[in-house]
Amino acid sequence: MSNLVIYNARLVDEVTDSFGALLVSNGKILSVCKSDFCTEESAVKLAEGIFSDDAEPVELIDAKGLVLEPAFIDLHVHLRYPGQTQKEDLKSGLGATAAGGFGTIVAMPNTNPVVSSVELAHQIEKEADAIGLTKVFQTVSITKNFEGKDLDHLDDIDRESIPVITEDGHDVLSSSVMLDGMKIAGQKGVIVSCHSEAPTLAEKARPYRKSALEIMKNYELSAWGSDEKELANVPPEALEKIDDALTQANSLLAVAEDSATYRNIQLAKEAGCHVHIAHCSTKNSINIVREAKREIEKYRREKNLQYAHFDVTCEVTPHHLALTGDEEPMIRALVNPPLRHEDDRLALIEALRDGTADVISTDHAPHTLEDKAAGAPGFTGAETAFAVCNTVLVKENGFTPKKLSQLMSANPARILGLKKGLLEPGYDADFVLVDCDKRWTVSGADFKSKGKATPFEGKELIGKVEGLILDGKKVLF
Ligand SMILES: [Zn+2]
Repeated sequence: MSNLVIYNARLVDEVTDSFGALLVSNGKILSVCKSDFCTEESAVKLAEGIFSDDAEPVELIDAKGLVLEPAFIDLHVHLRYPGQTQKEDLKSGLGATAAGGFGTIVAMPNTNPVVSSVELAHQIEKEADAIGLTKVFQTVSITKNFEGKDLDHLDDIDRESIPVITEDGHDVLSSSVMLDGMKIAGQKGVIVSCHSEAPTLAEKARPYRKSALEIMKNYELSAWGSDEKELANVPPEALEKIDDALTQANSLLAVAEDSATYRNIQLAKEAGCHVHIAHCSTKNSINIVREAKREIEKYRREKNLQYAHFDVTCEVTPHHLALTGDEEPMIRALVNPPLRHEDDRLALIEALRDGTADVISTDHAPHTLEDKAAGAPGFTGAETAFAVCNTVLVKENGFTPKKLSQLMSANPARILGLKKGLLEPGYDADFVLVDCDKRWTVSGADFKSKGKATPFEGKELIGKVEGLILDGKKVLF
C-alpha cells in the first residue's frame, strides 16, 4: 500500500483546528504535522524526511486549503438491502454515504428478510466490502424476524461480530422480552439501539395519518412535493382538516416517544446494558436522557468507577435539527419520529451542545417517489447531512467545526469502539475533505441514492463534501 502526504489542509478533529499536513502509511495515520506545509515543495521535503528509507511510492494530495477531518460515522442508515432494492441497493446506498463523506455506517435490519442472524449480517457486510466504499456494520434484530418474542438468535452474537442490535422501524412491544434481550446484550457488551415508540400509541396515530392522506388524494394533492400552486386550489377547510389530522397523529407520536424512551432507559438500567436512544426528537425525551446520564455520572463518581453497570447514549438527526412540523405541516415531510415543534428543535441543539446528545445520525431512509406519495415515512439523508449540520449548528448556532467533528466522527467511533474519528497517529486513515463555506442548492435528482425525496429540496445549504479517503486510498475526489 502506498504512502500518502496530504498537504495544504486545514486539519480539524474534536481537539485540533490547525493548518498542516498529514502523513499516512499502510492505511493508518503516521503523523500529523501542525504547521503551514502549504506548498508542494514543503510537502516533498516532509515526505523525504519521513519516508526516506521507504521503497514504497509517496502520493501527494493538495487539499487546497480545505478542511480535512476524520470521515463521518453514521450509526443509523437504512440500506434497504436485501429485499427492497427498488428503494435502495448496496451500490446506490454506499454511493450515497460515500458522497455524504461517511467512512463507516451502521445498517438497520428492517429489510426483507429481516436481518436476524449473524450469517446474513456478515454476508451483507462482505458484499458491502466488495463495493469498496463506506464500511458497513450490519445490525441484527433484537427479536427474531421482528416478531416480538424469540431471542434465541442472540445467543450467536458477540460484541466483536455484531456491535449493535436494534428493532429499528418499531419498538419491542413486550417490556419483559425487551428486558431479556437487553440482559443478553449487556452480558455480551452489545449495544441496544432503541427506536423508542410505544407500539400501541403508534397504532393509534396511524388512522389520523391515513385520513390526512385520503383528503389529500381527494384534492389530487401529491403526498410528496405539493407546491404553493397546488395548495392554492384546495379549500382552506380541507387544508385545516389535513393539518388537524397530522397534528393529532404527531401529538400521539410524541407521547409514544417519551414514554418509550423512559421505559427503554429503565429497562437498560435493570438489565445492565448500553442503550442507545435512536433519533431522539422531543424536548421531554432529551430531558429523560439528560436525567439518566446525570444518574450514571453520579454513580460513577460515588463508586469511583470508570463505567457504570449501564450506559446511555443518544443520537439526533439533521432533519430534526433543521426543520419543524410547524413549518412543514404537509405530509411531504412525513417521517418517524415526526418533525416536531420549535422548542423541541432548540432543545435538541442544546442537548448536542451540552453533551446530552452524543452523535448526529442521519436515519437515511430512502423510498421510491411512489411509496413516498403513498405516505411512507422517512427520506434520504446521507448526502445532505454534513451541509445541514454545518448550516444549522456551525453557521447559525455557533458550534465550532471541532464540535461538529466530535458529533459526526469522534463520538460515534467511541460508541462503536473503533480507532477512527480522530486525527491521531495510529488511527485509521479515513478522511473527508469539506468546503465549509460553499453554498449549494439541494436537488434530489442529483443524489447517488435511489431515494430522491428530501425535505431540503430547493433549499440552499452551506458546506459541501469535496473528497473522501478511506484506508489511505482516494475513494471520491
Ligand atoms: Zn427508527
